[in-house]
Amino acid sequence: MEKQAKTKEWYKEMDIAHVLHGMTVPSIFHKSGSLMYDRGYGIRLVDLDGKVYMDGMMGGACCTVGYGREEIGEVSKEQMIRLSHYPNFGHRANLAEIELCAKLAEIAPAKIERFYTTNSGSDAVEVAVKAARFYWKEKGKKNKSKIISLEHSYHGSTAIAMSVTAEPFWLHPSLEPYVPGFLHVGMPICYRCPWGKSYPGCNRECAQALEEMIEKEGEDTVAAFITEPMWVASGLYVPPPEYWPKVAAICKKHNVLMIIDEVLTGFGKSGTFWCSDLYGIKPDMLISSKGLAAAYAAIAVVGITDEIYKGLTARDAMFPHVHTYGGHCVSCAIALEVIEITLREKLMEKAAKQGEYSLKRLTRLKEESPYVGDVRGLGVHWGLELVADKKTKEPLASSRATEVVSRCYEKGVIIVTFGDNILRWGLAPVATMEDLKEFLDVVEWSVKAI
Ligand code: PLP
Repeated sequence: MEKQAKTKEWYKEMDIAHVLHGMTVPSIFHKSGSLMYDRGYGIRLVDLDGKVYMDGMMGGACCTVGYGREEIGEVSKEQMIRLSHYPNFGHRANLAEIELCAKLAEIAPAKIERFYTTNSGSDAVEVAVKAARFYWKEKGKKNKSKIISLEHSYHGSTAIAMSVTAEPFWLHPSLEPYVPGFLHVGMPICYRCPWGKSYPGCNRECAQALEEMIEKEGEDTVAAFITEPMWVASGLYVPPPEYWPKVAAICKKHNVLMIIDEVLTGFGKSGTFWCSDLYGIKPDMLISSKGLAAAYAAIAVVGITDEIYKGLTARDAMFPHVHTYGGHCVSCAIALEVIEITLREKLMEKAAKQGEYSLKRLTRLKEESPYVGDVRGLGVHWGLELVADKKTKEPLASSRATEVVSRCYEKGVIIVTFGDNILRWGLAPVATMEDLKEFLDVVEWSVKAI
């Protein structure tokens, strides 16, 4: 029997009737339904009416190599037929995961040699936190269990990841109590410095605050500091140049592990393969997801150094963590192909060029528009902070920022807001310069219409 084509109305009705969506306001959902797309190619999405959009969300900051890549379809088909999955725990291994981990060891930042493969960024954050605690306790440091992260940060939605997260937008009192043992210190937001300073005339209070917190808590109680290398999951904040050398020295001095969450920033998007490379960060643990399989599969990894591995295995205990689909063969085969594409097509260099061009265009826009208070970003990640008054930095009303997003959408360009007044986007590194010009023409036009 021939399958009957389903209409746009059918999808809308069934979506509203049967799907529970996260981060969605129920009253708006029941009235308007969801944004839906039928297919994608390159950096473009096509909706159910056939209208084409340039995806400045990269399908959730994932699709770095573009949609609709036949070679990835081929690789996954081959792997599915050969061996769909075989578990990676309890003295078992699969070839696809071994190949992926060996490749990751070649390209990871210095000293990251070994990888735990799991399903999502949040899972990977759980693994890293558990590993940090396990590491210290197996080494005999019984009280070294507290985890410090940054205010306004986002690290995922599972119980531990949510407790690492500190941005109120992603949390809700009805979810409490959170997991104990997590502390949050100020984020380096130079445009609105939490310490009331202005860069460069400050004493890098942002880094000092971390040291003060470690000293106050007692370094024998602090297991790790976890953060993104730049804060793309928040309001798109870029660290001042002195931040990372100071933070690395503080963590080393106080024996606090540095866990770098590159779920969002890795895979060429920052203009280097890892954003850690850009800042010269040498993590004890590195978390990656999103770009790892570029939206073609769900996968995440936690990379660790030999030193961490030695600690984890110091007493010959089994690391007590397992997922049925950890190291999924198809996901691993896809991730391997994505790495090859990223390197072969030099997507880091393309992202860096996007960054140079975007900075010029957006700096000019800031000069021309009375509402652009700050321009932030690098590589493909960009953000504009909109203000009602550039002197007082009073935030522009959220409805005005939403209008900009809607105007862009009408013209076929997808960007999003963060908080009330920050516009944010990232166009996949595979975008051509013509794509980027077209995209920024629309953003510029929409901002100037405020
Ligand atoms: N960490 C960061 C920095 C993220 O941006 C995200 C998701 O956006 C996560 C962790 C959680 O990843 P996932 O949504 O795959 O669980």
